[in-house]
Amino acid sequence: MKKQFKNGHRMLESFGYEFIVQCPNCNEKSKVISPEGLYYRNAIIRFICMSCGLLKEMIPSTNCFNQNVISYGNSWREGLINIGGNYDWYFGYPLYLQVACCGRTLWAYNLEHLSYLEKYVEAELRGSSPYYLSVESRLPI
Ligand SMILES: [Zn+2]
Repeated sequence: MKKQFKNGHRMLESFGYEFIVQCPNCNEKSKVISPEGLYYRNAIIRFICMSCGLLKEMIPSTNCFNQNVISYGNSWREGLINIGGNYDWYFGYPLYLQVACCGRTLWAYNLEHLSYLEKYVEAELRGSSPYYLSVESRLPI
């Protein structure tokens, strides 16, 4: 029986509660945690390194409507929530789970994200017509 991947239509934002990153101090594996979610105002975002003990906190900037300011794309801007590159959304630290693949970089925010990608890649049969903003819509067929 062939392995199948049924489209979960998961958007990248759904994996953004935790980022496994490279510590800027000791280069070891560390975490950025955003437990309240993307749209929760004044949420405290924490960076924690269990190797060297570095701890940082930040609160994302809000606009005049008291909404979190979100930036999409491959550039990172301090104070905003930056979605789309191979770094965490809040501090801009490089993701720990990334590898060169087919001339580009394959990356994952956390183990759940990595597992989702793994299931897609190892499948011999994949669902058709994924939601256009889903993670699987950005992967090769
Ligand atoms: Zn560290």
